Amino acid sequence: MMQSNEIEKIKILLSEKKKIIITTHYNPDGDAMGSSLGLYHYLKLKKHQVTVITPNSWPSFLDWMPGSTLCIAGDNHLKKAARLLEEADIIFSLDYNSLKRTNELAELIGEAKGIKIMIDHHVQPDDYADYTFSDVTASSTCEMIYEFINALEAEVAIGEDCAACLYTGIMTDTGSFKYSSTSSKTHQVVAELIQQGAKNTYIHRKLFDTNTYERLRLLGFCLSEKLTMLNDYHTAFVALTSSELENFNYKKGDTEGIVNYALSIKDINFSAIFIERDNEIKISFRSKGSFDVNSFARAHFEGGGHHNAAGGKGENTMDETIMKFVQLLPQYKQALAINE
Ligand code: 5GP
Ligand code: MN
Repeated sequence: MMQSNEIEKIKILLSEKKKIIITTHYNPDGDAMGSSLGLYHYLKLKKHQVTVITPNSWPSFLDWMPGSTLCIAGDNHLKKAARLLEEADIIFSLDYNSLKRTNELAELIGEAKGIKIMIDHHVQPDDYADYTFSDVTASSTCEMIYEFINALEAEVAIGEDCAACLYTGIMTDTGSFKYSSTSSKTHQVVAELIQQGAKNTYIHRKLFDTNTYERLRLLGFCLSEKLTMLNDYHTAFVALTSSELENFNYKKGDTEGIVNYALSIKDINFSAIFIERDNEIKISFRSKGSFDVNSFARAHFEGGGHHNAAGGKGENTMDETIMKFVQLLPQYKQALAINE
């Protein structure tokens, strides 16, 4: 996956002190933040000038991540982000493979003069980077960053902060090591990260045992009042309006994971959550087995992602979005019945 001639060229690039910007996708998740901050810590160890720019802010359950306070959220600091991108020698694209996924930053990154390096595990990468490292079999971008660092420098001591960040992204993107993307290599990398100082129990607690009272009540509300079962299509979904979110004092990240509860139901092979937020409908899709939610999201909801986990955008209103979704299911009836 990591072509040695490309790695050799990047080694030469990094042999002198550089101005480096690391970017990731809109609504950054654990893997986006983990890979960006993991690489940030490594490049800082190597004495480069490094800044992480995210298109918008990350959920507060990731605030504990070492280095997060130094990240710049582009939507609040667009001028600064523009200047930094313009001045950068190297720009990394991590955990995304299409500039569209960086929203307002897309044009700035596209037009920047710096050398662009993409490291990502989503399907169908766009062709805009000078170096493209794409591995759709990788569990996470964090796993790829670990490999990338080791390709640059064998058996390097990456430091506790880098290890903690990379561990976080692998853990979140594999659903705590249970999704089919989890390989023996994933576990080998994780073992190495723990060896290098990632405190696994501490990180699990920071991610999963920091619920607010409101967040748990929102989950309860979704499960008891908002879950729609379409048994004929082995499908379950939840739809949340902005006023419902307000009732539970919604904070970014509070709806994370709810879609997986719908998928955990026996004989449900496809789940979705529709969330009305910032004047648009954000959708998450999940599946078990062969049903390809990446293709589904691409074909119908301006989205994409992975085979079993993808996202997209809805129509103008929630009702229109749900109607479209429900009306699409009959054409997938056969595919939805299989869960291998
Ligand atoms: P989530 O549902 O957790 O937001 O995203 C699931 C997966 O799909 C993640 O890997 C995420 O990066 C990807 N994804 C989410 N929304 C979009 C989208 O609008 N377009 C594309 N191409 N991928 C998305
Ligand atoms: Mn990822």
